[in-house]
Amino acid sequence: MNLSPITISLLLTLLSPSLLSISGVSVEDESHPTVCIIGSGIGGSSVAHFLRNYSTSTALSRSRILMFERHERVGGRMRTVTVSGDTFEAGGSILHPKNYHARDFVERFNLTVRLPSAIEESSAVGIWDGKRFVFKTFGASVKIPFVDKIVSWMNDVYLFVRYGFSLLRMSSFVENTVDNFLKYYESLETRPVFDSVEGMLKWSGLYNLTKVTLEEKLSEVQLSTLLVNELVTVITRINYGQSVLISGLAGAVSLAGSGGGLWSVEGGNWQMAAKLINHSDVTLHLNEEIKSVSHIGSYYELKSTKGNSFKCDVTVVSTPLDEVDIQFSPAITIPKRELQHTHATFVRGLLNPGYFGMKSVSDVPALVGTLEDPLIPFSSISILRKYSATDMTYKIFTRQAASDSLLDELFSVRTETVWIDWGAYPKYHAPEVFAPFILDDHHLYYVNTFENAASTMETSAVSGENMARLIVSRFRTTKESSSSPYLDTTRSCNSGLHSNV
Ligand SMILES: Cc1cc2nc3c(=O)[nH]c(=O)nc-3n(C[C@H](O)[C@H](O)[C@H](O)COP(=O)(O)OP(=O)(O)OC[C@H]3O[C@@H](n4cnc5c(N)ncnc54)[C@H](O)[C@@H]3O)c2cc1C
Repeated sequence: MNLSPITISLLLTLLSPSLLSISGVSVEDESHPTVCIIGSGIGGSSVAHFLRNYSTSTALSRSRILMFERHERVGGRMRTVTVSGDTFEAGGSILHPKNYHARDFVERFNLTVRLPSAIEESSAVGIWDGKRFVFKTFGASVKIPFVDKIVSWMNDVYLFVRYGFSLLRMSSFVENTVDNFLKYYESLETRPVFDSVEGMLKWSGLYNLTKVTLEEKLSEVQLSTLLVNELVTVITRINYGQSVLISGLAGAVSLAGSGGGLWSVEGGNWQMAAKLINHSDVTLHLNEEIKSVSHIGSYYELKSTKGNSFKCDVTVVSTPLDEVDIQFSPAITIPKRELQHTHATFVRGLLNPGYFGMKSVSDVPALVGTLEDPLIPFSSISILRKYSATDMTYKIFTRQAASDSLLDELFSVRTETVWIDWGAYPKYHAPEVFAPFILDDHHLYYVNTFENAASTMETSAVSGENMARLIVSRFRTTKESSSSPYLDTTRSCNSGLHSNV
């Protein structure tokens, strides 16, 4: 069959870009800007979602969004694990009642909220010091409303006897911090677009909390040492695998994540990312690991380990850069940051009560938290599901991989074990330093610098939302002030704030 040049060009226009990229060289539709997002977690998927919402009647309104994910599934640190056929959250698990973006995603996409099961709600908590439980709450083994109320009341009294009014001061500290955070949901008219994490945190009144450790902050608000060394330590070890030397802000977020009304998404939190991506007209490249990002003239060239290359007007890095190997040209400079590794081990079996000096496994609290002592080999152990009195699924958090010998000490029966090593969240310090949102003078953006403030699903969404506004506002300015199509102009962004969008 002979094809005329006109027929060929017609055919080419009809072919989708994905078909054209089969050869490994991606030929993009150049008439609309291309936004490339590296990472399909809640951060990257939020950027895509909010870009679509905010870019109508802007230079980006008909942009193409390409998303790259090195793994075969979306969601990143939102991921489930299957143990003996049952599914559990393996990474980001719980959401706060005031995580309004997450709530919106769930409602918008008809996902189902999962509230803690009766067993999770009525479970006893114990604080283990390596030799004994220094504190234990009561657990209601069956959830009967009246019994349940008494148990909860007894626990309140019991907690108050041990920690006194410090508990009230702790909850007021957490409430104040949450209130400040709520400013990030204010209307677009009153809320600026931020071009730095520092500016974003200063505006909401949270910045100073990144300058002091949680321990210092809690001493300033007059919490007793006992409360800080016990309950607060247990919580920071569970939520961030770290001690009370994390920043005051990461600490407050961690404490907020241990209050009431917590929830998750039925079937897995990762579905929020999946839905956001599906509804944002994104071309998703799974199993496509980006190995280099080069700024070439007026665009970025992204190369993947598969040998494909992509031409992008805007590039958004939506993954922590600390442990990934992406080469940037020209090179970028960001403050050094280390990730805290959390090893999540899932065991189907039965805990060994003897390890805790107990006769019966029913005497061991359903959630065992630990004090900050290097000799204690785990941060926490919790029951995820109880099949019978002698058959349960547990989650163990440790800072190092849980060895078989440790698990054999902790468990008398082990029928299935699943190990996951997470590069989980930053190692928090005070004072914190932040990498920029804008990594070069053009359109290279970094969502996960916000993780130095706090790492949660919601904070990634909040950072992603601001990022979408920042891109739209800078891109619009660039386009309006430049004769070349989209790029090549730099705008001074020292103010920390942008208006509109
Ligand atoms: C064990 C654990 C427990 C947690 N518990 C909670 C909790 O209870 N509540 C809560 O709110 N948060 C929790 N978190 C934190 C929360 O999960 C994260 O803050 C959040 O999911 C981060 O989302 P993200 O999109 O910013 O990053 P990620 O989810 O890490 O997404 C980044 C994505 O980028 C991909 N990627 C990386 N490099 C490349 C590359 N070169 N090319 C292509 N793709 C690449 C990765 O594969 C990943 O999918 C927990 C985290 C862990 C690990």
